[in-house]
Amino acid sequence: MAGLLKREGYKLSNLKDAECVIVNTCGVKSVTEERVINFLKSLSKLNKKLIIAGCLPKINFQRIKKEILNFAAMLDPQSIDKIVEVIRKLENGCEKVIEFSDTPPIKPSLPKNLFNSVVGITQISEGCNLACSYCCTRFARGRLKCFPMKEVVECVKRFTNKGCKEIHITSQDNSSYNFNGTKLPQLLNEICKIEERFFIRVGMLNPLYTKDILDELIECYKNEKIFKFLHLPIQSFSPRILSLMKRGYQPNVALDIINKFYKAFPDLTLSTDIIVGFPTEDDSDFEETIKFVEQIKPDVINISRFRARPGTEAKKLKQHSPNIVNKRSKELFELTRRVSLEKNQRWLGWQGECLIDERGTKKDTWMGRNFTYKPVVVYSTRNLLGKFVNVEIIEARSNYLIGRLISESK
Ligand code: SF4
Repeated sequence: MAGLLKREGYKLSNLKDAECVIVNTCGVKSVTEERVINFLKSLSKLNKKLIIAGCLPKINFQRIKKEILNFAAMLDPQSIDKIVEVIRKLENGCEKVIEFSDTPPIKPSLPKNLFNSVVGITQISEGCNLACSYCCTRFARGRLKCFPMKEVVECVKRFTNKGCKEIHITSQDNSSYNFNGTKLPQLLNEICKIEERFFIRVGMLNPLYTKDILDELIECYKNEKIFKFLHLPIQSFSPRILSLMKRGYQPNVALDIINKFYKAFPDLTLSTDIIVGFPTEDDSDFEETIKFVEQIKPDVINISRFRARPGTEAKKLKQHSPNIVNKRSKELFELTRRVSLEKNQRWLGWQGECLIDERGTKKDTWMGRNFTYKPVVVYSTRNLLGKFVNVEIIEARSNYLIGRLISESK
């Protein structure tokens, strides 16, 4: 939307000076929805045109209508290409504009605004054909629609021509990409052929479809352009809970993928998502997930405390009390911190190259990524953004490493 608006001559501004505020919302979890609604309420007190975009308008339209009375427009993720039209209608005096659609535009072909000059993000598909029993994202994103390989590759070329050195491949589930028979490994191979020097970060891969492309995927991950980073959301390691979640795979499928990836790439960064307190999850189900974490030691675990979302099947099941959910979440969180620190300590003394892709949060610090997408913080008074640098890891924390800058790469 920012790319489209800039192309039409609109300027991105700060909140104080803006005439119009666009909020790209998320509604995946209840806690996110609460935060978004509170944020929208605070914005609605400013005298500005408030446009509410993203998933929440489709997930909870009625709530927004009831609680954010003075919104100017709402549009869903399939209508982002209408943003200029929406703003023009508002400029011409329309009071409330609603734009919903079932078909997304070919998003890789739309103009992009780079919020970070080093990182280009391209979506390869929209929606999902699965029906996980807890998920409301699918209501907002609809059935799977894959974007043409040619458009995705062109989009990446435009990013690398502009100097991007890190490309994020994203969607609701990258493993289900299939455009007229072209699947994810072929798409990645084509992107790797682009001559510039850059890394590719492959986003979320659902175990269900990953198993079908596993050998080709591992083969193409051997290309040095692809970060050795696997985001495989397992959600639970209890067979019974996975069935109730309707994820379509069992723990052994996820385990096989992980083992094969580790065999090919021993330094792999493994990231996973786990939901705790799913309805009927008992102590022994939870114990299976804990054992999985102790045994496999993922580097990153995104923990979600289960809370039912509107219109989902899981909402009809008997819910746990918040106490149980919080207790399990705390236990898993503590284990996660311990395991992540243990994993990160293995990098102590490692020397190698990192791409600096962000400014650090503290003065004169920079955030880089090594070949496994491990976050590495380095100190330098020079501007390192977008540079490849050589570092030595001197300290490990549970969610990042600290590196000593040795030199800037040629
Ligand atoms: S894979 Fe499941 S959780 Fe993910 S978008 Fe599809 S239905 Fe939702």
